[in-house]
Amino acid sequence: MTRTSLPISGAGRRVLLAAPRGWCAGVDRAVMAVEKALQQYGAPIYVRHEIVHNKYVVQTLERKGAIFVERTEEVPEGSIIMFSAHGVAPIVHEEAARGKLASIDATCPLVTKVHKEAVRYAHEDFDILLIGHEGHEEVIGTSGEAPDHIVIVDGPSDVEKISVRDPSKVIWLSQTTLSVDETMETVEALKAKFPLLVSPPSDDICYATSNRQAAVKKMGAESDLVVVVGSTNSSNSVRLVEVAIEAGAKTARLVDFASEIDEAWLEGVTTVGVTSGASVPEVLVEQVLSWLAERGYADVEVVKTGEESITFSLPKELRRDLRAEADELVAADRRLRGNSALSTSPED
Ligand code: SF4
Repeated sequence: MTRTSLPISGAGRRVLLAAPRGWCAGVDRAVMAVEKALQQYGAPIYVRHEIVHNKYVVQTLERKGAIFVERTEEVPEGSIIMFSAHGVAPIVHEEAARGKLASIDATCPLVTKVHKEAVRYAHEDFDILLIGHEGHEEVIGTSGEAPDHIVIVDGPSDVEKISVRDPSKVIWLSQTTLSVDETMETVEALKAKFPLLVSPPSDDICYATSNRQAAVKKMGAESDLVVVVGSTNSSNSVRLVEVAIEAGAKTARLVDFASEIDEAWLEGVTTVGVTSGASVPEVLVEQVLSWLAERGYADVEVVKTGEESITFSLPKELRRDLRAEADELVAADRRLRGNSALSTSPED
C-alpha cells in the first residue's frame, strides 16, 4: 500500500453512502440455506460453485463446514449438494441424481423466473436472445434450459453477428445482474435488427441490481472516488464500478476488504462514495467506513434512492426437513407430557 500524508481531520472531506446497497434477498436466502443445512444435517455440505460471489462469505462458510466444488462429480455418492444462487442447468440436476446426491436448490427465485421464461418461449418455438456475460454461471444455467433455442448476446457489440431462424419469432431475456443502461442499449440495437423482437413479460434485471445502480448513479455524480465493496467475480459489483464512472465519479475501485484500499487513491479527494454489491455483508462496508474515518472522512451522508423489503423463504427441501423435525419435536414433547401425567396420576 502506498502511504500519503493525510491530516486526520479533513475540512470538507465526506463520505456519501449509497442506499440501498449490499446483501439482497436472494443472497440472504442462499447463505441462510447453507447455514441451516449445516445445522440440520451436519458438515460437510457440498456447494456447487460459490454460493454467492463473495470471498468473505465463502471463506466464512468454509470454516463452518461447507465444501465448494465446481463439478458435481467431485461430490462423494450419498452426500448433500447445494446449488448456488446463480442457478444450474437441468443437466446438473440429472448429474446429482445419477451420483445419488440429495440436492438442495438455492437458486434465487428471480433467476428461476428467467429459467421458466426460457422454457416457456422455447416450447413456443421462439429464438431466445439471452443478453448476458458469456461464461457467467447464471448464463450457463439459463442457457441450459433450452440450449437449442438460446443465443447469448454479450453486449451491444455482439448484435451484428446474431442470426435467428425466424425474425418474426424472437424474444430477448437477460441475466439478472447486468447494467440497466447497457442492456437497454443492447435491446435497442436488437430491435433495430429484428423489429418484431418481443420483450420479456417483466424485467429480468432484478430489483437489487437496479436499485443499487440507481443509488450509485446519484452518489457517483458527486464523488471524486467511489469505493465499491465486492468481489471481482461478482457481476453486479463490477457493474456498480462502471455505473459510478458513467455517472461522473472521477474514479471508482472495487475492493473485497478495507485493507485493499490504497491511501494514494485519496490524493486530492474530497468526497468518497461508498457502496457494495448484492452479495456483500454490511460488516465489510462498516470496515471501509472506519478505515476512511481514520483518515479524515468521518462525515457520512446517506444518499438514499429507495427502500427494500423483499424476502424469500428457504429452499423447499430444507423447509420440508425443518418442518418434519419441528413436528417430531412437538410429538416428542406431547409424549413426554403424557408420560409425566401418567407418572403423577392419583393411582400411583
Ligand atoms: Fe437474486 Fe438479484 Fe440477489 Fe441475484 S442479485 S441473488 S438475482 S436478488
